[in-house]
Amino acid sequence: MSRLEQLYQQLILDHHKSPLHFGEADPVTHDAVGNNPLCGDAYRVTLTVVGDRLEQVKFSGTGCAISKASGSLMTGALMGLSVSDALSLKDRFLAFLSSDGESDGLGKLSALGGVRQFPARVKCATLVWRAFEAAIEAGGHPVSTE
Ligand code: ZN
Repeated sequence: MSRLEQLYQQLILDHHKSPLHFGEADPVTHDAVGNNPLCGDAYRVTLTVVGDRLEQVKFSGTGCAISKASGSLMTGALMGLSVSDALSLKDRFLAFLSSDGESDGLGKLSALGGVRQFPARVKCATLVWRAFEAAIEAGGHPVSTE
């Protein structure tokens, strides 16, 4: 394993142990849950959207180290962005994980790129992002995603 890979693995373990923005937004304006039965990951993503801005992005639930680290990194990356910038970042991140997409501009999120070698784990990394997307698309009503 390269030193860079070791560093990335440590970043994932750190975020798993001490996830950022873990809990629920207050007040909740947007809300969605995501489940990955293959792994047992189950999360709820809650948002406080004021105007076009993501004032709060939080997640709660349980799952593996990859899924929890992804939630921690996602909430940190999206907090404070406009909804359109957040959706564009989400698209770039999903493209990065699903192909040989570039990690340019993804910062710490690129730490999750290691899962590309393990297709079964990609869903662990994308779960909270899909839930975020579902929460925005639902326009402020609780929804469920598979
Ligand atoms: Zn998982």
